[in-house]
Amino acid sequence: MWPYSDSMRGSELGVDDIETAVDTGAVPRGDRIDELLDAAYQRALEHAEGAVADYIPILADADPEGFGICVADVDGGIHEVGDTRYAFSIQSISKAFVYALLCDAVGHEAVFEMVGVNNTGLAFNSVVAIELNDGHPMNPMVNAGALATTALMPGGTAEEKWDAVRTGLSRFAGRELHVDEEVYRSEAATNHRNRAIAQLLESYGRIQADPMDVVDVYTRQCALLVDAHDLAIMAATLADGGVNPVTGDQVVSADVCRDTLAVLAASGLYERSGEWLFEIGLPGKSGVAGGLVTVAPGKVGIGTYAPRLDSAGNSVRGQVATAYLSRALGLNIFASESHFSGRTPE
Ligand code: GLU
Repeated sequence: MWPYSDSMRGSELGVDDIETAVDTGAVPRGDRIDELLDAAYQRALEHAEGAVADYIPILADADPEGFGICVADVDGGIHEVGDTRYAFSIQSISKAFVYALLCDAVGHEAVFEMVGVNNTGLAFNSVVAIELNDGHPMNPMVNAGALATTALMPGGTAEEKWDAVRTGLSRFAGRELHVDEEVYRSEAATNHRNRAIAQLLESYGRIQADPMDVVDVYTRQCALLVDAHDLAIMAATLADGGVNPVTGDQVVSADVCRDTLAVLAASGLYERSGEWLFEIGLPGKSGVAGGLVTVAPGKVGIGTYAPRLDSAGNSVRGQVATAYLSRALGLNIFASESHFSGRTPE
């Protein structure tokens, strides 16, 4: 679907020379974060490969050079560089937060049954994946699972479900989010594939609401405007046991954060999720308008914006900047040092 550059292989992320800090349970001091953020920005700026998404017509108008990175600490500190207040549509990143809201509303067992948590290994909008799995949507980060998730949101009508989505995502951001009507209309006029997916799910009894209503709510949710600063705060809320570190609002429970982050680790970066986890070692979620969120549990949320995408639909500069920060800030959840380092084993 994307005739763009191939995946960002580890060596292409260009971060192998960065001194890797190992998790010490705390991130460095604020001024050190600012220094590393500047370095991550400069490093990622060297990457001009990839291309802006155009399968939703209006997205093709994005300035390919737009680029911002924001880090939000779980204590509410904000560090930012570049175009962090430039608004763009949240797109697929909404899936992570709607999933969290649904788990919080109905409990993870019910969502697990209806939506699942396994990676499909196929494109986010694959119809084949549904057929291969007997109509099961597989996970909430692909469109089938995201549509099933939105369908299950509290509310008897499409309007009530939409209200639950918009209000919930706004609480994650700590401010009221609004739809970009132009993006919504552009996608609504061209989303034949998502309509087909919703109808296919209905044929398997996997959607308990009107499938076209569900597609409409989902399309609105994808058209909500955010900036990199919002994304960092939304991610920091998932890093902070569900409490928004700026507003103090408990948006979802700590258990829901844990479950959501596990799903993101497995499926957050489309069919490149394994490569992402291998290189960055953190749960994340990307969207086709160029946003990327990354969560370092108990530490920080990272939000980036850069609309040039790799062939799977992941922001190229976003990946490079996040890889840099993961290494330099010691965020990789899989990294450890010997328990004996610095002392003689007895
Ligand atoms: N609204 C987009 C779609 O459903 C979201 C895609 C994405 O960001 O991956 O096609």
